[in-house]
Amino acid sequence: MEISMIERAKEDLSLYQTMQLQFDRALHWAIDLDQISIDFLKEPARVLRVNFPVTMDDGKERVFHGYRVLHNNACGPGKGGIRYHPQVSEDEIKALAALMTWKTALVNVPFGGAKGGIVCDPKELSRTELRRLTRRFVIELGDAIGPHTDVPAPDVYTDSQTMAWMYDTYDALHPGQNNRAVVTGKPLELGGSAGRDDAASRGLLYATQQLLSHEVVPDLSSVSGARVAIQGLGNVGGNAMRLFQEAGAKIVAVSDSSGGIFSESGLDLEAVLAQKSGGGNVVDLPKATTISNQDLLGIECEILIPAALESQVHGGNANNVKANVLVEGANGPVTDTADEILKAKGVIVLPDIIANAGGVAVSYLEWVQNLQNQHWTLGQVQEDLRSRMIDAVDVLIDRFELLKENQSKSMALTERSVSLRDAALVTAIGRITSVVRTRDVWM
Ligand code: NAD
Repeated sequence: MEISMIERAKEDLSLYQTMQLQFDRALHWAIDLDQISIDFLKEPARVLRVNFPVTMDDGKERVFHGYRVLHNNACGPGKGGIRYHPQVSEDEIKALAALMTWKTALVNVPFGGAKGGIVCDPKELSRTELRRLTRRFVIELGDAIGPHTDVPAPDVYTDSQTMAWMYDTYDALHPGQNNRAVVTGKPLELGGSAGRDDAASRGLLYATQQLLSHEVVPDLSSVSGARVAIQGLGNVGGNAMRLFQEAGAKIVAVSDSSGGIFSESGLDLEAVLAQKSGGGNVVDLPKATTISNQDLLGIECEILIPAALESQVHGGNANNVKANVLVEGANGPVTDTADEILKAKGVIVLPDIIANAGGVAVSYLEWVQNLQNQHWTLGQVQEDLRSRMIDAVDVLIDRFELLKENQSKSMALTERSVSLRDAALVTAIGRITSVVRTRDVWM
């Protein structure tokens, strides 16, 4: 499917737009969904905007803007990361919060969906500035977050240290009670869970392996032996690189914000990891064949994993994708137009709301351990994660097959063929609306 230059120019690349289109498309398959539920789920339950000054290292003050959005809490407390990035906006956080609602439903954890962020460039801030920024943000959020109301976690350019500052500030404001469950993704010594650091990527691997075992991806039935290209080398991409290689894949291309590197025979991952842990960029690795982030998306490979930011695969470049399967490590890396182009090309997309849900699955396990003052072994955590991801993919494939059958009986309200994303969204929406109806929250 080709799209014209005019259509390309018109494509809205915002994550919010992508999420709205994906939701609307999924409704074609959720034929028994009532209008009240649609209206309720389409917009967040609560949007909190904060605006606060922070003293910088040079003694001057600067005002920062932050958000915390609770999309839905029918199934439990809000759950979702905190992002520090210059492009953070209210709409982006609203979209990411909705994704969290679908994700928590799909991996069957008793949480709702939430997300937060601060508009800032963390690369330009010192550690002490980041600490002051984080502490003040928690004070501004007040009781909008809490172990039983809304539980943040790390996301882009935040990490376990950020969560330690958040926990410590919240704890100082709420003395005399166990506050460990207020955030997840904490350092181990503050009640963090074994296996949380690579949970999103491990979940990505388990979900990919399970998907391939169902033989729904043309000409690819195993991760072992597959060529893999990964965009983004942070928590999700960096760990995915290691775990997919351990599972027998050949990592042929990786990238970070500076650009990418490529090797047909497989990259030297030790060198890549050493470069990244030293704070360097992959393009500066000696003897590396460098490519752009755009080139990476069109590399000859079987598995493509965008694991950086949203809207990376869009109407203007989706046609270049050569992979058999695109596994969404990042949230919202594929636009709605790109989804259609990839489908027409026969590229299967494993959607973010299943693919990277391992992060929130293990966040749930951390939360449970904190509430019970327990500590589980790495083996216990990984086994729980594995079975959750396998179950989620099995349910997804069953729903996908059912929707295909319904379409062949003309029971769908669209001519468009069903995608795994449609099936995942319909499953999540069905689980949440069933809880909402049983709770009778309309009364
Ligand atoms: P991170 O901050 O650890 O890493 C982000 C990576 O993206 C860095 O390597 C950075 O260099 C790279 N990057 C930034 N801009 C880029 C660009 N323009 N092109 C290519 N690379 C670029 O973030 P993360 O936690 O790994 O999150 C990545 C994505 O995964 C986000 O969409 C996030 O919402 C999603 N996610 C994260 C988790 C988690 O537990 N951390 C869980 C689920 C989903």
